[in-house]
Amino acid sequence: MKSTKTKQPITLLVLRDAQHSVKQIQLSKPLLIAVPTIAILSLSGLIISMQVHSSQVVSKMEQQLQLQTMTNNKMEITVSNREEAISRLQNEIINLSSDAQDMKGKMQRVNDLEKELQKFINNNNTSMSSEKTKTTPTITSDDPNHVGGEFIAVDTNDILDLTRETKDDFEELRKLLDSMEDNIPRMLEKAQETQDMLAGIPNMWPTESHVISSSFGYRKDPFTGVAAYHAGLDISGNTGDPIYAAGAGKVVEAEQGGARGLFIKIEHPEGLKTTYMHLSNINVAVGDSISKGDLIGKMGSTGRSTGAHLHFQVEKMNEVVNPLPYIR
Ligand SMILES: [Zn+2]
Repeated sequence: MKSTKTKQPITLLVLRDAQHSVKQIQLSKPLLIAVPTIAILSLSGLIISMQVHSSQVVSKMEQQLQLQTMTNNKMEITVSNREEAISRLQNEIINLSSDAQDMKGKMQRVNDLEKELQKFINNNNTSMSSEKTKTTPTITSDDPNHVGGEFIAVDTNDILDLTRETKDDFEELRKLLDSMEDNIPRMLEKAQETQDMLAGIPNMWPTESHVISSSFGYRKDPFTGVAAYHAGLDISGNTGDPIYAAGAGKVVEAEQGGARGLFIKIEHPEGLKTTYMHLSNINVAVGDSISKGDLIGKMGSTGRSTGAHLHFQVEKMNEVVNPLPYIR
């Protein structure tokens, strides 16, 4: 009786409206429990799957947001890098410009020196030009301990101007260097010529003794006692004293010459000649090239002489001149 009661189906009456008839559904007891359970399970599955889906969407959006943020950060970094690079480049340009200015100053100074040297060479003179050289300020690279002034920011146009000016400066430097490259070898050649010429000027005292026993010009002749013209300078000393060439040149005469005794004649540049008379010995021969200060002979008293001395004579364009202004 009890088991029959359990297996007895449950009847559900479905009432819709007045036009429809009443529906009668018979459900067994287990089915009555299973249907809502399945419904709840499938509903909760749906809810879970929706939750999973939405969390996936949210996570995807979060990822995208993160990516976007990263991109933004990257862009910010790029912008800041670019600003840094620009600032660095600007500083480079400023440094470069300062270098160019510094170099230009130095080159200008070298150029001035070159002109001075040119002038010196052109003067063809034994004495240096007495003109005082201008002193130009020396520009050293910035010393952080000795600078100051208010801060004035530079803009892009300033930097562009500076870049252009720096370019012009370097162009100017290049031209200066080019001209120096052309001029310096020519000037060196001229300087060499000048040096040779200077070495050839007979301006060295020809003996060790500096005692003048007879000057250049009119005097009473030591032999006759009458007025006579003395064409050179007599320097007294001892027989055998060394005689030096007063300047570089070429021996044109070296012989026994009557009243001159043993004598040497040297030809120098600028139409100058020197003669060394009354020697006791001759160390050179005609045609020899000699340097200033070379030992050419020995003092003596040969020829028309009263005692050991050197008669030193200077000719300029074949005319005797006072030797003292040359060798003093
Ligand atoms: Zn004399």
